[in-house]
Amino acid sequence: MKLVLSIFGLAFAAQAAAVPNRPPLQPNAFYPLPLGSVKPRGWLLEQLRIQAGGLTGHIDEFWPDLSENSGWLGGSGESWERGPYYMDGLIPLAYLTGDQRLIAKARKWIDWTLDHQQPDGWIGPTKNQDWWPNYVVLKALAQYQEATGDKRVIPLMEKYFAYQAKHLDERPLKEWAVYRWHDEVLTVLWLYNRNGDKSLLDLARKLHAQGHDWEAQFADFRYREKIARQNGSNLATHGVNNAMAMKAAALWWLVTGDRADRENLSLMLENLDRFHGQPEGIFSADEHYAGRDPSQGTELCAVVESMFSLETDMAILGDAALGDRLERIAYNALPGTFTPDMWGHQYDQQANQIECSLSNRNWVNNGPASNIFGLEPNFGCCTANMHQGWPKLAASLWMATPDGGLAAVAYGPSEASAAAGDGTPVTIEETTDYPFRETIALSVRPAKPARFPLLLRIPAWAAGANAAVNGRALENIRTGQFLRIDRVWNAGDRVELRFPMPVRTSHWYNNSVAVERGPLVYSLKIGESWRKLKQTGPAADWEVFPTTPWNYALMPQSLEVKEKPLGRQPFSVEGAPVEITAKARRLPSWQAVDDSAGPLPVSPVTTKQPEETITLIPYGAAKLRITAFPWIAP
Ligand SMILES: [Zn+2]
Repeated sequence: MKLVLSIFGLAFAAQAAAVPNRPPLQPNAFYPLPLGSVKPRGWLLEQLRIQAGGLTGHIDEFWPDLSENSGWLGGSGESWERGPYYMDGLIPLAYLTGDQRLIAKARKWIDWTLDHQQPDGWIGPTKNQDWWPNYVVLKALAQYQEATGDKRVIPLMEKYFAYQAKHLDERPLKEWAVYRWHDEVLTVLWLYNRNGDKSLLDLARKLHAQGHDWEAQFADFRYREKIARQNGSNLATHGVNNAMAMKAAALWWLVTGDRADRENLSLMLENLDRFHGQPEGIFSADEHYAGRDPSQGTELCAVVESMFSLETDMAILGDAALGDRLERIAYNALPGTFTPDMWGHQYDQQANQIECSLSNRNWVNNGPASNIFGLEPNFGCCTANMHQGWPKLAASLWMATPDGGLAAVAYGPSEASAAAGDGTPVTIEETTDYPFRETIALSVRPAKPARFPLLLRIPAWAAGANAAVNGRALENIRTGQFLRIDRVWNAGDRVELRFPMPVRTSHWYNNSVAVERGPLVYSLKIGESWRKLKQTGPAADWEVFPTTPWNYALMPQSLEVKEKPLGRQPFSVEGAPVEITAKARRLPSWQAVDDSAGPLPVSPVTTKQPEETITLIPYGAAKLRITAFPWIAP
């Protein structure tokens, strides 16, 4: 190992090693590779470049809360969660794209935080007295440390956690910090795995003891309906808290080893799916649980936080189904709520979204601007927090296995570099237009022949999946599991995967159907008229009005796929790389209510309207859409 590292130099050593859990923590199924080990390629790199050229790369130039006046840069302005949220997404975007302009921006925030720890250990602006924003900045600093090896990070964390351990009894967690305790435990365990200081495990227990009992909430789930507006102050039903809490039970299992903790995540996901699930992979929350009606919304913060929680859960538990779920959110809900150029986003997205405009919709308690696209619709939390979605996905596509192998936990064009087997440096190049296409090619390049296992997630939907090594087909490929290929790998070895993507349908609210193909969900392409509401610096707020009808009932037996070229913006109406045509008939009784699609008729439905051919495009491309369709029986 040492010899290899000396040949490849320290830069490689800093990048190569995943850090395993230290006893008495339970072992992970997989270990995240340090930030920078997995690089985006192909369309995914282009997507990150679009993001860098959009709000993420420019917002600090004109949005006051992330300007030089931020408390997190020593100014007198916003001193709570927004600076840390921005760092948490800017850092991985900067280091994954290698964009020096972004790295310089990220360093400004990091350096201020590292240079301004108080003598007693407190971090961040002194104006902030809330434990919560510090959870986020610690997560951001951990990523930065992995990308750079900066020696200032770990001592800062050690001093801060010692301060917190001393003061938590007299100054316990309150409000948001109570419901998000796991987001600090994550970093407490990260540090413990690096320095072995057992007092950190006591701190983790203290945070857990003062935190909300998410496991009890899902062991006996009482919130089975849309939350009433007057109950919209209960932080247990808050969408973003729930999204963050998707990592709570798995993380806590690392500490306790208790089977009930390990199994609680599936209870959480089953309950959220059953009572609040939406076709694009996320649960409704506008701002609290909002039921299964596809005209309810989901906040962007809940989308990116669910993704990060699932990435964390995947590492800990190694369940292939978590990868399916992660891709469903990442390739549908995430792009569906941004403008194609990533200069605008929504606060709330709807599965059935027929108009994005200032309007008093049927949200639990969000405001009239919640579904317009823009800089700061409804509330600015997402404006600060949305940046982590794409880059953390890219960084998580590959993970290390405890026995020296590598695992593809989600798919996308990428290149992973790590030490494998006996420590041999290996690069795996993943060439694919997934999720738009069925094939994935892996080129495995160890520095010398090396034996290690390659674990490849076979999605549950991929019936008939094929895998071949150097042209030789493998047998017994099972869906919903990891395929393990344990062999001596030589430079130039090639693995080919094919995940067949026939069109399929799934059933949702009021027995509606959604059309799916591979990990993508498809939505009615509706003509869009974009009207600018206002300009703020280089960003603008937009309303979007439909120019074509939306109230169709689908004839699900008539679906046909047409692949189109994959361009620079696959998540745009014009650039959609796949279209599905279907037969449908208008349903005149289905009309808008409060500018949302009105009550979804229970299917099957009947209508005397003439048959038409409609076009479906990926959910992420359709900014106006019907996703949960009423349908006509054959
Ligand atoms: Zn938000």
